[in-house]
Amino acid sequence: MNIINFSAGPCQLNKKILETASKDIINYNQTGISICELSHHTEAWKDLYKETIANSIEFLQIPESHDCFFMNGGGTHQFSAICCNLCSQRSKIQVLVTGFWSQKASLEISKFCKVVVVNKESDLVDSCEYDFTYYCENETTIGFEFRNGLNFNPINHFLVCDMCSILGSKFVDIKKYGVIFSSLSKNLGISGSTLIIANKELLSNQNCGTNENIPIVMDWRPSLNLTGPTPSIMSIYMTGLNVKRMIERGGLQYYDNLSIVKSNLFYEYIDNSNGFYFNNIPKQHRSRTNITFSVKDSQNISSLFTNKAKLNGFIGTAHHPSNPDKGCRISLYNSLELDELTQFINFMESFKIDFEKNSLNYIANA
Ligand code: PMP
Repeated sequence: MNIINFSAGPCQLNKKILETASKDIINYNQTGISICELSHHTEAWKDLYKETIANSIEFLQIPESHDCFFMNGGGTHQFSAICCNLCSQRSKIQVLVTGFWSQKASLEISKFCKVVVVNKESDLVDSCEYDFTYYCENETTIGFEFRNGLNFNPINHFLVCDMCSILGSKFVDIKKYGVIFSSLSKNLGISGSTLIIANKELLSNQNCGTNENIPIVMDWRPSLNLTGPTPSIMSIYMTGLNVKRMIERGGLQYYDNLSIVKSNLFYEYIDNSNGFYFNNIPKQHRSRTNITFSVKDSQNISSLFTNKAKLNGFIGTAHHPSNPDKGCRISLYNSLELDELTQFINFMESFKIDFEKNSLNYIANA
């Protein structure tokens, strides 16, 4: 059976790049060794790294004003790394909490310095009291997105943004940000590393890295200069393949459009299901990459749906363990094709028709 993977990350990858990777796991680029055996001191690795950075800059349209580099660890790692690199204990950070991931980040940041939590964008304050404002562009667990970024553009401090589950799916005006980070396990590649995009002035500023006691695994500078710990080679290698393919396919313009087409199709389907499937996120904040929904407004029927979907080859449709609504969630990252989503919607329709015919059986089994 063909499996279609709707997981929120690690997530579905394109089959062609998996085939290339499987060859390179045996014999990387005719070197006679596996990509997993490649030393990070070799020219081959340095070339691969440089090419991956160059392609990431091209694909994500990263402006001259910003540097980008990979660092070991995931998005969670950056919750602390941003503090080690940008703050002192006296710092005060404004955090916009809109869901699970910004809440987690807020707790981590509060281990390093003072945090002022705000829950609504309109309550954010542009004050030089704050070193920066932190927010999450797309809350993966509930599917809540700032579709056009924030309207809040501070001039008295800068913005730091978690774009883990959205970077690469839409145009972003990167110039507006001090720092953006995204773990590689979603649109970009596989888990193991995170891409950091940071304003060059900020990186060279005295405030960045004034703390000489930054643990080396948290310090951005060695990663930027390729003098840090052994990099997560497989994760960066897979990102290299994936980003190259995404450029060939039409770049950000193509994926920006595709993510709109896919998410509109899905929201339209559930909105027209007479409440059988239901998404409770305000329309202006509906995520284009992670979509939550309940089935018949019931936790039990939603989990019956998830089980049946799995039997039909659609995996990864269960809610995140933290989602209090306990419904379903699908993720529409870049490697998930429009045709695969259409197949899933057809399945949803047949589930709905079957349920409506045999609701007593379903309720008895729920
Ligand atoms: N932020 C967001 C928005 C995420 O979706 C995730 C992971 N799903 C993280 C942060 C944490 O990333 P990681 O699991 O790579 O530590």
